[in-house]
Amino acid sequence: NCEQACPNLLPLASAVQKAAQGDFEELKWCFERCIGCGKCEEACNHGVPFQKMFQSVASWETWKCRAGRGPIMDTEIRKVGAPIVLGTIPGVVAFVGCSNFPEEIEEIAEMAEEFAKRKYIVVLSGCSAMVAGMKKDKDGLTIYEKYPPDFDAGGVVNVGSCVANSHITGAAIKIANIFANLPLRANYEVIADYVLNRVGAVGVAWGAMSQKAASIATGCNRLGIPVVLGPHSSKYRRQYLSRKEEDDWTVMDGRTQQLVNTQEPTPEHLCIVVESKERAMVTIAKLCMRKNDTPQGRQIKLTHYIDLHKKLIGGLPPDLHHFIRTERDIPMFFKREVMEFLKEKGWEKKPVLSLPTLIGTYKSKAKIEDVVGGVKK
Ligand code: SF4
Ligand code: SF4
Repeated sequence: NCEQACPNLLPLASAVQKAAQGDFEELKWCFERCIGCGKCEEACNHGVPFQKMFQSVASWETWKCRAGRGPIMDTEIRKVGAPIVLGTIPGVVAFVGCSNFPEEIEEIAEMAEEFAKRKYIVVLSGCSAMVAGMKKDKDGLTIYEKYPPDFDAGGVVNVGSCVANSHITGAAIKIANIFANLPLRANYEVIADYVLNRVGAVGVAWGAMSQKAASIATGCNRLGIPVVLGPHSSKYRRQYLSRKEEDDWTVMDGRTQQLVNTQEPTPEHLCIVVESKERAMVTIAKLCMRKNDTPQGRQIKLTHYIDLHKKLIGGLPPDLHHFIRTERDIPMFFKREVMEFLKEKGWEKKPVLSLPTLIGTYKSKAKIEDVVGGVKK
């Protein structure tokens, strides 16, 4: 009964039988994949207390989790605002959301560590922040013991509980306010436009079990932050996907105040469900690219995109040519290989903008001067 009731089809009967004989490995395996819905207990005719058993299996081990630290300070934003906007810090990756992870809970820790190693800024909240501390390396250390707590390249920041997600979006707003001098009051549209076009931030809701977690993702989308969702999140039936080849990627060049077809899909999607940890990591690296990236920043971002794709999926990304604007964007390390690939694709140069904005491309009360001047009229 329990196995039929379990949405994750966990082998509960055999795990309980083995546990009765003193072998707890399978029960632990189930615990790592359990979303805590309680359906197994409801369905069990013998009153087996699955949740209590899971808790006792889990309680044999302890982990170190960094305490939630609250908002990102203005002084930190002043330090990292420029490198984030120019692209030399390749991105801010925020892991949020709950426990219905597709495979092991350790996947969050693995993804967070990969991006911290690559000098992205890694931010976590809610249950994701908690489970990131539940993987130890061979020396018994969790990511919180290995990476600094700073909102800076290579930092791993636990902002706090699920409600502390507002500190993550708050950091993006502060970048627009402090670094670009955009006023905060009644200026959501211009700030969201700034974040969408210039702040390489990506949210990851690897297990959006609750509606609250799904709505956090929507909140990020409203502010121009793309979100990668885990496979179980497809139940919310919402994605915002582009068709990169066909869609119009025209923006306003804030400097010349002319419309420019950039031909580059950055960021390619606003909300996308992916099916594996590997796909998620490649997608995160891709969605950190912004039209505002300097050639140096784009090189750094493309290095990670190419390297992750080669390691986790194999070969060069098939859509790589869309993200290379000029030869200066091509990472030195992959130059020869990428040049051959571009030749095959019939690649042509694309414009590079330093002040891209969507304001002015559609009907709105916001004016291009609000973006350029950083002063709301
Ligand atoms: S509580 Fe866990 S084990 Fe029980 S049905 Fe839900 S997911 Fe399966
Ligand atoms: S909504 Fe937040 S606190 Fe609740 S389960 Fe999800 S991540 Fe955890």
